[in-house]
Amino acid sequence: MQRSIILGCLSIAALFVCTGADAADKPKLIVQITVDQLRGDLPTRYYDRLGKGGFRYLWESGIVYRNAHHAHANTETIVGHATLATGAHPSAHGMIGNLWFDRETGFTTYNVEDPNYSLLTKGASVDANTEIDPTQRAARSEGRSPAAILVTTFSDELRSNTGGKAKVIGVSVKDRGAISMAGHTGTAYWFSKASGEFVTSSYYLDKYPDWVNTFNNTKPAQQFAGTSWELLHEQNSYLFGASDDREWESDIGGFGRTFPHSFGDGSSKYFTTWLTLSPPGDELVLDFAKRALVEEQLGQDAVTDYLSVSFSSTDYVGHVFGPSSLEAEDNILRLDRTLADLLAFVDQQVGLDNTLIVLSADHGGPDTPGYLNSLNIPAGYVDPDSWDKAAAIARIKEAFRIDGDLIAAYDHPYVYFSDAVKNKRKIDQQSLEAAVVEELSKFHGVSLAVSSSALRRGNLPDTDIYRAVVNNFNPKRSGEVFIVFEPNWFINDMEGLTVASTHGSPWSYDTYVPIVFAGAGLTARTVYRSVQTVDVAATLSAYMGIKPPSGSAGTPLVEVVAE
Ligand SMILES: [Zn+2]
Repeated sequence: MQRSIILGCLSIAALFVCTGADAADKPKLIVQITVDQLRGDLPTRYYDRLGKGGFRYLWESGIVYRNAHHAHANTETIVGHATLATGAHPSAHGMIGNLWFDRETGFTTYNVEDPNYSLLTKGASVDANTEIDPTQRAARSEGRSPAAILVTTFSDELRSNTGGKAKVIGVSVKDRGAISMAGHTGTAYWFSKASGEFVTSSYYLDKYPDWVNTFNNTKPAQQFAGTSWELLHEQNSYLFGASDDREWESDIGGFGRTFPHSFGDGSSKYFTTWLTLSPPGDELVLDFAKRALVEEQLGQDAVTDYLSVSFSSTDYVGHVFGPSSLEAEDNILRLDRTLADLLAFVDQQVGLDNTLIVLSADHGGPDTPGYLNSLNIPAGYVDPDSWDKAAAIARIKEAFRIDGDLIAAYDHPYVYFSDAVKNKRKIDQQSLEAAVVEELSKFHGVSLAVSSSALRRGNLPDTDIYRAVVNNFNPKRSGEVFIVFEPNWFINDMEGLTVASTHGSPWSYDTYVPIVFAGAGLTARTVYRSVQTVDVAATLSAYMGIKPPSGSAGTPLVEVVAE
């Protein structure tokens, strides 16, 4: 009896000690950094020229996963962000593409659009000037919210676990880069190209906090008027120093293909667009994130807070100039400085020992066909808009007695059939899909075509590519036929805008991303075993000792949680 009382006391003491140690070990802040289109090799490609405190700090003091991939086939921005945020595959979180055709409304839908929640800044519709982000043109309202994300994020679970006491903020140039990470319960801020300010929607707030108004009143974009994007170092010190002007690079509104890239006097309608497709886009996000950290007092009490910072310039630079360009090289060196600035600020305000940092990317990206062809690597562009007119599709129309269009739209990576076809009762949809799949599979540049009915039936070949397509399949949102292009073949036309390269495939250059956990007293380590981006949210949840997000398909990374 006495013995059991002693044991009981011991176990109570042990529990007390354990709980106390846990609370003391918890970081004050989690900073989740997502760099749009940061392919896994890019942070170390110019390692000898990186400064201190940015990539070098993360790579030399963190746990670095050098064999991390997205496990879904459509490697686009919202798809990757939502996967990192939720630890779920797109089949579960529902963000199957930047755009999809909504069968309930009958309209093409932009992932985070929501007519129920308008922007707090009047006239700041992000649609107003979207030359470089044409996916947003499809949005039919300026309202934005995370409503279409079907599962919880890690940040939601953190809020829920703490009774709403954990503060959660997401910041990005892109609405989808901020909204996805802030989840359903946090607050997201993004950059409006129309107003040159950071905005949010009525989903999150009724009015801006004073600090946001103060920040926006400084007209943050205008600091770049009259300046240019110039090289950080002597041009001949760059790997691509001798090849600035490449014919396949895009010239967006007169921004040019060579340095210096002038931002003009600030009056051009392209001004804010140019800022986002160059390092200033990231610098604006950095400045706003730093203000948010201070003003919202993140990491200042016993409850762990969460700040997501998503940097988009690398993505736009990759699209416009290609990842192997002088512009992309200079952008990485400048991003390194931006990261160093952010981490130094976090260190000063909260302490890096008290902060768990995680960095990854929403997707990688291909090199441009021009660059690859110059090295004799096969690559090229595909034009799905021409498919409906092809002789093979005409034969299918004849066989199924279809007048007019069969293929209504190609919203990457899906072929959607026209309404006329879908509503025609006499057509056996399954046979039609099978016929289209058979013909499209033979098309130049197409590696694989899979019909939705085949995906619903299952029993597909057990290969990485098929698994990636299945992970991307949501029956309510996916199109009739899923297309995988040949490696290094992709579309260069984004609704009228010609770009040099486009990601969005299940091939390794698009799925390969870095995953790095650092700070919070973690011990440096490089890990080469295969891990997936769904593991990030699972790891954060396990690290915090809270339940994983509702659709989580990841496994906690043992090197991080077993420290
Ligand atoms: Zn992109």
